[in-house]
Amino acid sequence: MRRVLSWLLSAAVLAVSAPAFAGTKEDVASFETQTQDGRLAALEALLKREGLPYEIQTFEGGTKTAPAVGRNVIVTLGAGDSDILLTAHYDAKVLKDGSLAGAVVDNAASVVALIQAAGVLKGERLNHRLRIVFFDQEELGLLGTKAYAAGPDGPRTAAAINFDINGYGDTPFFADPVDAALAGAVRTACAAAGEDCLAFPMYPPSDHLAFRKIGAPATSISYLPAREAHQLWLMFNAGQSSGLPEDFRPRVLEMIHTPDDTMAAVDPETVEKAGRLAIELVRAADANRR
Ligand SMILES: [Zn+2]
Repeated sequence: MRRVLSWLLSAAVLAVSAPAFAGTKEDVASFETQTQDGRLAALEALLKREGLPYEIQTFEGGTKTAPAVGRNVIVTLGAGDSDILLTAHYDAKVLKDGSLAGAVVDNAASVVALIQAAGVLKGERLNHRLRIVFFDQEELGLLGTKAYAAGPDGPRTAAAINFDINGYGDTPFFADPVDAALAGAVRTACAAAGEDCLAFPMYPPSDHLAFRKIGAPATSISYLPAREAHQLWLMFNAGQSSGLPEDFRPRVLEMIHTPDDTMAAVDPETVEKAGRLAIELVRAADANRR
């Protein structure tokens, strides 16, 4: 009986402290269109529905043979001398046959997680200006982030917290921020969210790298099932002694950038966990002075 009571109590505490999100699956699915314009429209529709004001910054992007204007979508909340950034790319990988991957694991799930986080954070008084930036053309070589980092707002970045691959699984892992203050904030946030986060000294390439290049503290967050997260850690961090068969690739790398990156793989609970972790990351990074 006492055990039941304490379980009920902890469930009640959880219900109070963890924001509930609705319609997560439908929101992620709305990005599964066949054009990048369709993905931008899906993003704008969600921001409008949530009452999050945004601006679109264009940049010259595309490839040498097919130039294309890129569009970063920016939500700005509060004010301050420097910015904490929550970032995620919303563009989809173009497959060999010219069609688009569903690109919901990579990376609509992260986009929805950050919109959910923004909905909570817009009601909080922060010391920094908070920007939630949805980057375009990550899949063409981090072009949206590079344009942002090189622009007038790049030097205002106190910390950039990127989200890439947050579609399924219960184990969060992050790119070691190197910067001691941001590393401390990640530890604090993981504890506050009740998560055991796994540090990756070497993490797959993503948008955080463009911020590192300009000297801004940056990290990137992902979720995967524990086994896949550890396999990926070994692949990127253990070199020859990983113990993995030579041609082994974790499931996630067989799925993203292929026609298999569809809603069949997405677990809305993971998306919501990533959203809650994003909230704690902003609170912890905001407590840092820089
Ligand atoms: Zn990605």
